[in-house]
Amino acid sequence: MPATVVIQSTVSSTPQPDYRGAMLGCVRCPALVESRSRVVPGDGEVPANIAFVGLAPGRFGGDRTGIPFSGDRSGDLLRRMIRRADLQRVFITNVVRCNPRDIRGRNRDPDAHEIANCRSHLETELVLARPRLIVALGRIAWRELAGRTAAFSPVDASALRIGDRLLFPMYHPAYVIRGSYTERRYARDFKRLAKLLRTAIAD
Ligand code: URA
Repeated sequence: MPATVVIQSTVSSTPQPDYRGAMLGCVRCPALVESRSRVVPGDGEVPANIAFVGLAPGRFGGDRTGIPFSGDRSGDLLRRMIRRADLQRVFITNVVRCNPRDIRGRNRDPDAHEIANCRSHLETELVLARPRLIVALGRIAWRELAGRTAAFSPVDASALRIGDRLLFPMYHPAYVIRGSYTERRYARDFKRLAKLLRTAIAD
């Protein structure tokens, strides 16, 4: 069973009544306004037991479908793992809600300004979804949620309590698709996650 480490929270946020309109019409990042086909808000059950936070909608996934982690290989893998681990009341979102592209039109990582610009949208979603457990998918999401200097080591990771949030790091599904981590080990990590969630719900 993963242990829990406790840290003081520095984050607070109260959603504005017009939050969804503000999110869908957001023009804070000029490069993303250019590259995106649409803004892709978080999606899933609210209130949630568990929230997954990825990086940004993919060019062939959320940017096309309007739903995070859908329509591409990362989305298919994540959703398959969620089903296999029998996780219920799941909310899925990203640190950034628009698809970032490089000059050749390929997916790129969002930069620090884009992540900072989208932070209030992420906070609003997490405050509304009220998940017991937040899973950061990949190093960038983990550092955004757990702190810039937090070590990212998903293998045998501990959950981190920051304020009233329980955070847990996992590899991004793209890391598995690239062959850097096996699907079998990923499935085992999801089993551990399901166990952690059961404990978090029972607390
Ligand atoms: N799709 C998403 O929504 N987020 C990612 O990080 C990758 C693919």
